[in-house]
Amino acid sequence: MSFNELKLSTQLLKAIAKRNYESPTPIQEMAIPLVLKNRDVIASAETGTGKTAAFSLPILQLLLNKQGASAKKKRIRALIVSPTRELAQQIHESFTAYGQFTPLKSGVVYGGTGIEPQLTMLKKGIDILVATPGRLLDLHKQDMVHLDHVETLVLDEADLMLDMGFIDDVKKIERLCPSEKQTLLFSATMPFKVVQLADTILKDPEKVAV
Ligand code: AMP
Repeated sequence: MSFNELKLSTQLLKAIAKRNYESPTPIQEMAIPLVLKNRDVIASAETGTGKTAAFSLPILQLLLNKQGASAKKKRIRALIVSPTRELAQQIHESFTAYGQFTPLKSGVVYGGTGIEPQLTMLKKGIDILVATPGRLLDLHKQDMVHLDHVETLVLDEADLMLDMGFIDDVKKIERLCPSEKQTLLFSATMPFKVVQLADTILKDPEKVAV
């Protein structure tokens, strides 16, 4: 299969070509069409499988498809929750690279660092926010982050997130987003607590495993 067959627009294909990716990885082949169909997805995939592009490319595509009137008024329409600052930063860099030929903007927030630059970034407006749970909830409490226009929520590395004790934060974040949304859950392993979380928040999910 080639990326051309995945129904991605030329702006995204151009960014993929620039990265010298020849063809989609198995997780990308399976997940991209499902995300484009607005399905909820539960995917078991480890880091290194190309999972970041498996959700970031179709999310960028969905946001491009529905630019319309809201395009200029930047609101957070995709939220990616990640357990660590390093992962969050990497995901943000992927969105920035894949979205470089689009008008879409990504931003990242995480704890352990000054909040001021993050506030400035949020005030400018972004379409995609990548965040660690604690800092996201802090910013929400300060009324600096609004999640009422989130169309797609991604929980990345869900097993790690639960191991780190973020279960209540993750559930809280999910409830702050509109109930009508698409949710994608990625996890390297599928212990019972991840399956249980998926059962509570995913709607009729498609299962993908690599
Ligand atoms: P990830 O699993 O998302 O952490 O990605 C692992 C690495 O694979 C990253 O360095 C990506 O840039 C790279 N990658 C992602 N998709 C592809 C692809 N289709 N072809 C070649 N490399 C890729």
